[in-house]
Amino acid sequence: MTDFWTHCLEALRESTPAQIYQNWYADLTAEVELEAGSVAIFVSSGFKMNKVREAYGQTIQQIVNRIAGKEMEIVWQVKEDETFAASMTNAEDNAPAQSPSEADISKTGLLPYLTFENMVEGQANQMAYASGLQVASSPKSIYNPLFIYGGVGLGKTHLMHAIGNRFLANNPKAKVLCISAQQYVQEFMDVMRLRNLNNERFSEAMRQFEARYRGLDLLLIDDIQSFGGRDGTQTNFFLAFENMVPHGKQIVLTSDTYPRNLKEFQERLLSRLTQGLIVTVEPPEFDMRVQILLQKAERSGLDMPREVAEIIAKKLKSNVRELEGAVQQVLAYTRFHQVDVTIDTVKLALRDIFKASSVPVTIETIQQTVAQHYGFKVAELNSKSRKAKLVRARQVAIYLARELTKKSLPELGELFGGRDHATVIYACKKIASERNTDEELKYDLHLLEQKIKS
Ligand code: ADP
Ligand code: MG
Repeated sequence: MTDFWTHCLEALRESTPAQIYQNWYADLTAEVELEAGSVAIFVSSGFKMNKVREAYGQTIQQIVNRIAGKEMEIVWQVKEDETFAASMTNAEDNAPAQSPSEADISKTGLLPYLTFENMVEGQANQMAYASGLQVASSPKSIYNPLFIYGGVGLGKTHLMHAIGNRFLANNPKAKVLCISAQQYVQEFMDVMRLRNLNNERFSEAMRQFEARYRGLDLLLIDDIQSFGGRDGTQTNFFLAFENMVPHGKQIVLTSDTYPRNLKEFQERLLSRLTQGLIVTVEPPEFDMRVQILLQKAERSGLDMPREVAEIIAKKLKSNVRELEGAVQQVLAYTRFHQVDVTIDTVKLALRDIFKASSVPVTIETIQQTVAQHYGFKVAELNSKSRKAKLVRARQVAIYLARELTKKSLPELGELFGGRDHATVIYACKKIASERNTDEELKYDLHLLEQKIKS
C-alpha cells in the first residue's frame, strides 16, 4: 500500500470527481525509478494514452512531482507487453537524501506532500492548526494525546501528516510512525490469526508488530473510530498508549466521530483518548474556501482569477475535497479545450457539480434523514409528543428545513405537524445558537447537511 504509484493514484482519486478517476486514472499502472527521476506510466490503449496525456498529463505530472519531492520525467507507454513493466528495474539504493524514498515513506508512513506550508489556515481550522503546530514544535507538549475531530474531507489526515512531517523536520532523529487505524487493526489481526496455527511464527510476528510501536517519539493514528468493536486491538493499543503518553511521548489521533459517541470502545481507553486536547476541524468558511481554491489552482499551474474562485466558493460549501475536485475538473476542461479560466468556462466545466449542489432539498428528505439519524419515525417527528430527545430531533429538522429550503415560517409549521410559526422561530433560534457551543450538535448538523444534499 505504501508504494509510490499507489500514493499518486490516491492523490489523484482524492482530488478528482469519481467518474473521471474511474474512466481515466483507475487502471493506469507505473514503474518508478525515483533516483533516476523517471516514471513510466502504462495505459491500456493508444487512444486512451493520447487522451489521458492531453487532458490530464499536467495533473499527473504535478502529483508525481509533489510525491517524489522533485521534478520527474514521465514516459508514457501503451500496455501491450506485460513483460516490459516487469523488466524495468526499481533500484532503491543510493536514493538522494533530499527526496523521500519509498523506503522512507513506508518506514514512517508519512506522506511528504501533506505539510503545514500547503495547508490553508482559516477560522474553521484555527484551533486545530495552532495546536498541531504546538505539538510538532515542542519536545513535551501539554496536549497529549491531541485528538483531532471533524467531518469527512475537512483536512484531518492532512493536518496529522503535517504534524508528523514538521516534528520529524524539527527532530530528524525522532522515531515517528503514522498509520491508519484500519491498517493497525488489519496488521494486528494478521498476527492474531497465527495464534492457533503456529506458535513460533505467532510469537515472532507479535514481537515484530510490537517492536514497531516501541520506543516511538510520536505516534499518529488516523480515523481512530475504526477501533470500535475491536477489543483485541484496543487492548493492544492501550498498552502502547501507556508506554508512551505517561512518558511524555506524543500521540495524535483523528476521528470523524466525537469521542463521546465512539461506539464499542473500552471505557478505560476512551478516557485516555480524551484526557489531552480535543480540537475540531470545521467546514471551511467562505474566505477560506476562496483561499483554498486559489492555492490549489496555483499549485496545479492554473491561472484562476479571484472572481472565479469566489463563484466556485459560493456554490461548493461542504468540504475541501470537493473544492479540490472542482479545481482538477477546471484544469482538465480548460486544458482540453484550450481556453482560459473565466466565469463562463468554469460554469461549463463544473456544470454537473454545480447542478448536483443546487438540487432542491425537500422537506421529506430532511424529515427522513433527521428521523433516521436520531432513531425516530417521521410520524413521531411530526407528533405532539414532548419527549426531550424527540423535541431535540424535531428542532434540528425544523432548523435544517429553514436553512435548506425556501419555505416560509407558517409553511414550515404546517409541514411539521401543524405547529404555529412561533414554535418554528424558537426551534431555529435555539439550534442556531447552540450550534456555536455544542460540539456534538455541530457535528450532527454537518453530517446531516451532507447526507441531505447527497
Ligand atoms: P479528512 O481526513 O478530514 O477526510 P483530508 O485531510 O483527506 O480530509 O483532506 C481532503 C483533501 O483536502 C486533501 O487533499 C487535503 O490535502 C485537502 N485539504 C484539507 N484541508 C485543507 C486546507 N486547510 N488547506 C489545503 N488543503 C486542504
Ligand atoms: Mg482522513
